[in-house]
Amino acid sequence: MAPSTRGRMESSSSIRKSRWTERDTFFLPSPGHLLEFGEEHPQKCTLCAHLLDQRWKEPRCVEACPTGALLFGDLDDPESELTKLWNSGRLEAFHPEFELKPRVKYLAIPKRFIAGAVFLSRDECAEDAKVTLTGRGKKQTVRTNNFGDFEFEGLGEGQAFTVKVEYPGYTSQSFDVRTKTDVYLGEILLKREPKKKSKKR
Ligand code: SF4
Repeated sequence: MAPSTRGRMESSSSIRKSRWTERDTFFLPSPGHLLEFGEEHPQKCTLCAHLLDQRWKEPRCVEACPTGALLFGDLDDPESELTKLWNSGRLEAFHPEFELKPRVKYLAIPKRFIAGAVFLSRDECAEDAKVTLTGRGKKQTVRTNNFGDFEFEGLGEGQAFTVKVEYPGYTSQSFDVRTKTDVYLGEILLKREPKKKSKKR
């Protein structure tokens, strides 16, 4: 957790009462799902702005965390532990695809994988099959091992991908996948391409 302490207006936002009459008004434009609907009105983390205003050094949850899992500090202080960690490249935004430039980032967000095993027949593994993953504007290609296995690791959660399996002489297969959980595509049995009919002379 890594917000700036420069001031509540820079690091947190509040919800104007005049705008919380319609529940959907808040949930639809909240791509990070960071809003909750309380008993009467929407709520979100304020970084304990009311406590920081009273010169608390940290929000309540940071102070109370028994394992030190939360870190709060001033990004304008180049010597702070927070600034060093922030600049290390090890922190990630939650749902970076929304490009919200958040002031709260996370370390070691769990990742998803997509895996499978490719076969040429019931008892023949497809070694060295080409498997291509496309999605999120990127493309990755791997080759199956001698058991026909392949795996793509480090994928974001809830993202849409297409997996294409190709092997010479066999019809390629494609799968649309969403990484709500880790995805195992199971045994993928390729079919031989139909033989082209030769023209009679
Ligand atoms: S206790 Fe933590 S989560 Fe709750 S408002 Fe304060 S900073 Fe946000």
